[in-house]
Amino acid sequence: MSPRPKLVLVNQRTTLPWVFEAAERVGVDIVLVPRHDEVVDPAKLPPVVVECLPLQLYTDPAGAIAELARRHAESPFAGILSGCDPAVPFVARAAAELGLPGLALEAAEVARDKRLMRERLRAAGLNTPGFVAITAPEQWELAARLEFPVVVKPANGYGSFGVTKVDSVEELARTVNAVWAQCGVELDAYSEHPEQLLGLVVEEYLDGPEISVESLAFQGEVTVVVVSDKGKPVGPYFEEVGFRSPAVLPEEVRDEIVREVAAAHAAFGITDAATHTELRLHRGRPHLLEMGARIGGGGMTHQVARIVTGIDYAAETIRILTGQRPHCWGKPIEHHGHCGGYIVPCGGHGRIVAVHGIAELHEDPRVDYAVQMLWPGDVVRPYPDWSGYPAFIMSHHDSDEQTAAFHRELDERIRLDYEDIGT
Ligand code: ADP
Ligand code: CA
Ligand code: CA
Ligand code: CA
Repeated sequence: MSPRPKLVLVNQRTTLPWVFEAAERVGVDIVLVPRHDEVVDPAKLPPVVVECLPLQLYTDPAGAIAELARRHAESPFAGILSGCDPAVPFVARAAAELGLPGLALEAAEVARDKRLMRERLRAAGLNTPGFVAITAPEQWELAARLEFPVVVKPANGYGSFGVTKVDSVEELARTVNAVWAQCGVELDAYSEHPEQLLGLVVEEYLDGPEISVESLAFQGEVTVVVVSDKGKPVGPYFEEVGFRSPAVLPEEVRDEIVREVAAAHAAFGITDAATHTELRLHRGRPHLLEMGARIGGGGMTHQVARIVTGIDYAAETIRILTGQRPHCWGKPIEHHGHCGGYIVPCGGHGRIVAVHGIAELHEDPRVDYAVQMLWPGDVVRPYPDWSGYPAFIMSHHDSDEQTAAFHRELDERIRLDYEDIGT
């Protein structure tokens, strides 16, 4: 029996099942490079994982690539993939070194840096708000010429960490200093040279509904699979709240989103990847916020794509990253149903003493996944400090109205109780 092709899967949380399950369907084995913040129990690994291979990819990327190259020479890998944003440049570098399909390193680096994304979009003539890149907090004054309100954000942030709206120039210096201090503490686990990650973007606030888009790029051609509605967050902080898919939009708006997203792939040089793009419809026109050159939400977007279109999105991602043509290529995208994603808000801070309303969701036929991430005993620091989200809930429905009604129901049913610990 010839062995199955092996895919290196970098920093995938083992608690999120979608990429592992897709590997089964595609017929590839997984060599898992575990996250540095996850203790992996070998007995609980998905059966498709044939090996767990810890690598110091952030602190010693050259050593990590040498190790992969040594193994590749002994027994070749078919591809390398990550759904974890900070790992994307390492994965591109490793793919280039090993001769595997994937992104050019430059494209991977662009998609990791909001300054470079903004520059590329502007150079390509795509919709871009006024923006300024800042490499030291004293440079806040450069941003005083922008039209207010503006948004201050880390150039390499994630999960809305540090992203703050500023209404007037008087508040700018204080916010720039605060966000600078925050990202210095939080982002240094992800690089050999954390100082290179340090930097902020200040950009004009894009008023309007937020949209996210899951796409597939194969040999430079882009297919937009799902467009989702992310509500209309107004700040000043931008905690994730969830989404409804597909977004209900006039056809011409959807078409314009598809064109803008495809053009952004070209501007960033993203040719072979799954991508997760966030945009705002500002004055009716799609403006990109950022693009991740990876499957979104640690593979969660697979579930969205499958419910809405029937496309096996995580499997298509694996196909692309192992050099195979996606099965959906060249076919029209069908519309099968509606999907909801709901992120439970912390709704307070302190030590969690009880979480109400989540356990019973496992019995609800509309619910496909209810993943709890914070538990009694865990401490939630006051926002905008980052403590993670308590839970997220994915569900399927027959209409957008039903999805919206279900989310209102969850607003009522889920509650966290806290004990004050003086934070
Ligand atoms: P992150 O990588 O941390 O998710 P984003 O650029 O996606 O950073 O910003 C997080 C959120 O902040 C967005 O989802 C959006 O709601 C809000 N946001 C960011 N930039 C802008 C902007 N220019 N205008 C309006 N809202 C913004
Ligand atoms: Ca991001
Ligand atoms: Ca984002
Ligand atoms: Ca967001």
